[in-house]
Amino acid sequence: MTAQILSGKEVAAAVRAEVAQRVAALSERGVGVGLATVLVGDDPASQIYVRSKHKAAEAAGMASFDHHLPDDATQEDVASLVARLNEDPAIDGYIVQLPLPDHLDPQPVLDLMDPAKDADGLHPVNLGRLMLGRDAIRPATPSGIMRILGYYGIGTAGAFVVVVGRSFLVGRPLAVMLGLKGTDATVVLAHSRTPDLIELTAKADILVAAVGVPGIITRRHVKPGATVIDVGTNRTEAGLVGDVAFDEVSQVAGAITPVPGGVGPMTIASLLANTVQAAEVRAGG
Ligand code: NAP
Repeated sequence: MTAQILSGKEVAAAVRAEVAQRVAALSERGVGVGLATVLVGDDPASQIYVRSKHKAAEAAGMASFDHHLPDDATQEDVASLVARLNEDPAIDGYIVQLPLPDHLDPQPVLDLMDPAKDADGLHPVNLGRLMLGRDAIRPATPSGIMRILGYYGIGTAGAFVVVVGRSFLVGRPLAVMLGLKGTDATVVLAHSRTPDLIELTAKADILVAAVGVPGIITRRHVKPGATVIDVGTNRTEAGLVGDVAFDEVSQVAGAITPVPGGVGPMTIASLLANTVQAAEVRAGG
């Protein structure tokens, strides 16, 4: 069997086209849409991500604002920038690019953001509303994964899903989204203390890997015909690779996301969708 390739690139293009239409509709009403990014330090990967976010925002017709603080910025420096962005009327949504340098704690920074402008959907208010199944700005990467499943018609109701990795950025909110009423998956959230990963993952109809270990998911982890979503973005000497050993797993899976070109482009597309959603709410619908 050779798995169907779930192209995040294709789904992202569709989402971005829809976002551009919504931005244009707001513009006709005299409402501009603005996205800002906060980057602290000079991490090369973060710089690439931030550049891609600006390019995508501008392609969708948004204004984009780039805020770069030095590597030795203090917690107070970041907090005061966040306070300014909260008040800036030109900005509908913004993100603080993670990870922050080691001497900074991301949680107090996220706490200070205006939840209505939280384009990554990581503020406690947005995560809390998600938990309650209420309207919220939803975390960008998990939302991107939900969009891939929806676009390719991969059913979640009654499906047994194993999400490997429980970060607040990806695994944990994704597990909540999949288990909500209306999505109706049966979800298990696995992590580094899960005793027998293969025994669990080999039963999954949908397997999501969000670990950060290249190739940790092998064909032995995968039920024949399962859908495999690879969130891993690992920079190795061989280039960018996922958490899934793509060559062997694509021989047993029914469908699989590639790296690159899978979940990655969806994170940016969902960030744009979150920003236009915030702008629409601010403009009164
Ligand atoms: P993270 O915060 O480092 O979390 C990793 C998770 O994997 C933790 O829950 C950890 O368990 C679990 N884990 C580690 N080793 C394991 C093992 N041997 N078996 C089972 N579970 C194990 O990472 P993250 O931020 O969620 O990111 C995960 C990956 O996704 C990274 O490669 C990252 O670059 C990528 N990512 C990609 C996108 C995108 O847009 N494509 C977005 C975000 C992240 P414990 O909790 O027990 O430590």
